Amino acid sequence: MTIDRDILTLCNGCGLCEAVGQGIKMQLKSDGFYHPQARSVDHADMKAIRSVCPGINVRHPKGSHHSIWGDVVRACNAWAHDSDIRHSSSSGGVTSALAIYLLESGKVDAVLHVGTDEKGDYRSNHLCISRSREDILLRNASRYAPAQVFNHIRTILDSDNATYAFIGKPCDIAGMQNLVKTFPQYEGRIGYYLAIFCAGIPSFNATEQAIKQLGHDQEAVSVRYRGDGWPGYFTVTYADGTSRRMTYSESWGKILGRQIAFRCKVCPDSVGLLADIASGDAWNTRDGYPDFTEAEGRNFCFIRTQKGDDLMRQAVEAGYIDEEQLDIDQVRFMQPYQYRRRMETGWRIAAAYIMSGFKLHFHGTGWLRNAMKISPKAGLRILIGSARRYRWRKKELQQQ
Ligand SMILES: Cc1cc2nc3c(=O)[nH]c(=O)nc-3n(C[C@H](O)[C@H](O)[C@H](O)COP(=O)(O)OP(=O)(O)OC[C@H]3O[C@@H](n4cnc5c(N)ncnc54)[C@H](O)[C@@H]3O)c2cc1C
Ligand code: SF4
Ligand code: SF4
Repeated sequence: MTIDRDILTLCNGCGLCEAVGQGIKMQLKSDGFYHPQARSVDHADMKAIRSVCPGINVRHPKGSHHSIWGDVVRACNAWAHDSDIRHSSSSGGVTSALAIYLLESGKVDAVLHVGTDEKGDYRSNHLCISRSREDILLRNASRYAPAQVFNHIRTILDSDNATYAFIGKPCDIAGMQNLVKTFPQYEGRIGYYLAIFCAGIPSFNATEQAIKQLGHDQEAVSVRYRGDGWPGYFTVTYADGTSRRMTYSESWGKILGRQIAFRCKVCPDSVGLLADIASGDAWNTRDGYPDFTEAEGRNFCFIRTQKGDDLMRQAVEAGYIDEEQLDIDQVRFMQPYQYRRRMETGWRIAAAYIMSGFKLHFHGTGWLRNAMKISPKAGLRILIGSARRYRWRKKELQQQ
């Protein structure tokens, strides 16, 4: 048999099927995303893929959500106490500072997160093992492009008995937890889950377009999507050592954010529901909207588990992180796009459920309850549009 076409339609290119199945290889296609390629997949492997694939499985163990943002033990604004970490990271550097604290306090042996190869080639995003502060800071800041997250995860986990912290997009967290549930030998190997908020993964074609727009006859050797400031600039460094840059509003607003994967449009969790701590941009606001004027970086953090709460308190006490109180109702003004999305996506998910013949398992993510917060008329319009896009996407994949 081949991989189910509905799974391929909802694929986010994570590479987990390559890790659990024989003869599956992820391939970068002309649409600028990774896709699994396989001549045939046997029954047992297909069963494993159906169980681990985060494209169709996002399961919250409890699913008792009190707010539109999911379960939150407490929320805070925070930033790395070390000004170099704060400056070089995406937002306030909380994710990197927590990772460094976990390593230096001996709570984990290593951290698994996405980085590039040693040369910093922007096309080489993949899962890396960080064992030191220097490793973490080599890989901090968001990369708005596809990454090969799980292709080699079983080789990594099978090669030692180390305990890891895992950093990823919400769908990466779902993928890792699905793997652990399906293969109980990995139980206890991931000590902490740290999520970054996520508006969607742009294709590599979007990166290429942004590079082209900067216009230079030299080859682009490295790309920094943001960081080195807040939000920082999309900065391209060329073979001759020179660099050019554009603002976050231009890069994300006009190019990258407009070319996101189909799966991201039906994402039941862009806010890190399954993580111990989920962090995003605590944007300053002007006239009720986020203000992207350069400033000192700051995260807002949703601390979602008791373990996450203990970790954050200890990291603050140890001087790795500074935090201040945050009223969770303020997050809708910092993140108006995510707030609206949490309500609208339920209708898109409903379309995907129907069009896939109910192959999705998005449990405990609050999508149905949140969908009821907008008018059924508006919701139905979204549902119909999404059903059309689903059919179109499935057909398009068949022709690739
Ligand atoms: C595609 C994408 C969309 C995003 N959309 C939003 C949004 O809508 N709202 C919002 O508030 N924040 C969004 N973010 C997250 C935001 O950019 C910051 O990562 C987050 O605020 C954490 O900041 P930090 O300073 O703590 O992170 P840092 O300390 O800089 O650490 C960032 C971590 O993210 C990891 N990482 C980077 N790129 C990827 C990737 N492609 N896949 C998996 N892991 C990666 C790095 O390995 C690093 O460990 C998005 C990030 C990405 C990658
Ligand atoms: S989402 Fe991941 S596991 Fe699912 S089909 Fe795509 S690459 Fe494979
Ligand atoms: S929007 Fe959802 S599916 Fe898309 S990359 Fe982000 S977490 Fe994954």
